[in-house]
Amino acid sequence: MTDQEKIREAVRLLLEGIGEDADREGLRETPDRIERMYGELCGGMDADAGEVLSKTFTTEKTEMVLEKDIVFYSMCEHHILPFFGKVHIAYIPDGKVVGLSKLARCVEVYAKRLQLQERMTDQIAEAVMEHLSPKGVMVLTEAEHLCMTMRGIKKPGSKTVTYAAKGVFREDMALQDKFFRMLGR
Ligand code: ZN
Repeated sequence: MTDQEKIREAVRLLLEGIGEDADREGLRETPDRIERMYGELCGGMDADAGEVLSKTFTTEKTEMVLEKDIVFYSMCEHHILPFFGKVHIAYIPDGKVVGLSKLARCVEVYAKRLQLQERMTDQIAEAVMEHLSPKGVMVLTEAEHLCMTMRGIKKPGSKTVTYAAKGVFREDMALQDKFFRMLGR
């Protein structure tokens, strides 16, 4: 069975399992549609953050660079339901900067797969550390999880906030404060 066939078959079984008629008109194409959709939603698994962040520019600049409000959509691995929100990335260059759109693409690499918000936040920070070798990086993610707001404890609008601090951001509370001020917190 190919990977595509596995997804189609699994969706058919899911439909049957919840008591649906998988052959009725509205559902007939659903396994196909979902199989194609997963190619996109989990496309980050085939992408490489190193490639995305490979085109760097030399700089003398050592001031904090902040790219904020990067919108992302991911899916929690516990429920395969969406979680979505914004990622903010700050780093202190040490000779290298990257085009700002590349940071957004780096977020896509880790968002487009089954994820945990904490892990995604950390993976983004690690990728920036590894490929830009900055003095430090700080990543803050705020997201709404549909597994918390449309089911279970149902707290609409509640946000989960996670952050990762690497390099000089780890110990330097004044630097972390500056990051939060630049974010407007
Ligand atoms: Zn979940």
